[in-house]
Amino acid sequence: MTNDDNSQEIKKSFFGQVKKIEATGGHTPDLGRLQKPLEGPDSVVRLFCTGCGTYVELTQRGAEIMVRPTNVSLPASLEGNYLKTASCSACDGDDPTVTIEII
Ligand SMILES: [Zn+2]
Repeated sequence: MTNDDNSQEIKKSFFGQVKKIEATGGHTPDLGRLQKPLEGPDSVVRLFCTGCGTYVELTQRGAEIMVRPTNVSLPASLEGNYLKTASCSACDGDDPTVTIEII
């Protein structure tokens, strides 16, 4: 076992499996699911990842952080909208582009 393997093993023992979902791309959102009321008390919008098909609810702060790399300004209200990206924290996609879509 090399030092590198060893440090990976140590990381795994502390953090569990760290491998991310493969971003295969081409996922399309289910509109019925996007139209459902948000469940988190502080959630303001859903994010859908076309890379891995994951739905995530975001707080206002989370939404601001997600759009930051793309220079998109958030509207005053995100009601009736969702954010679409090709990579998220759950997958290994590397395209940080986020767009604001109408449900
Ligand atoms: Zn993803």
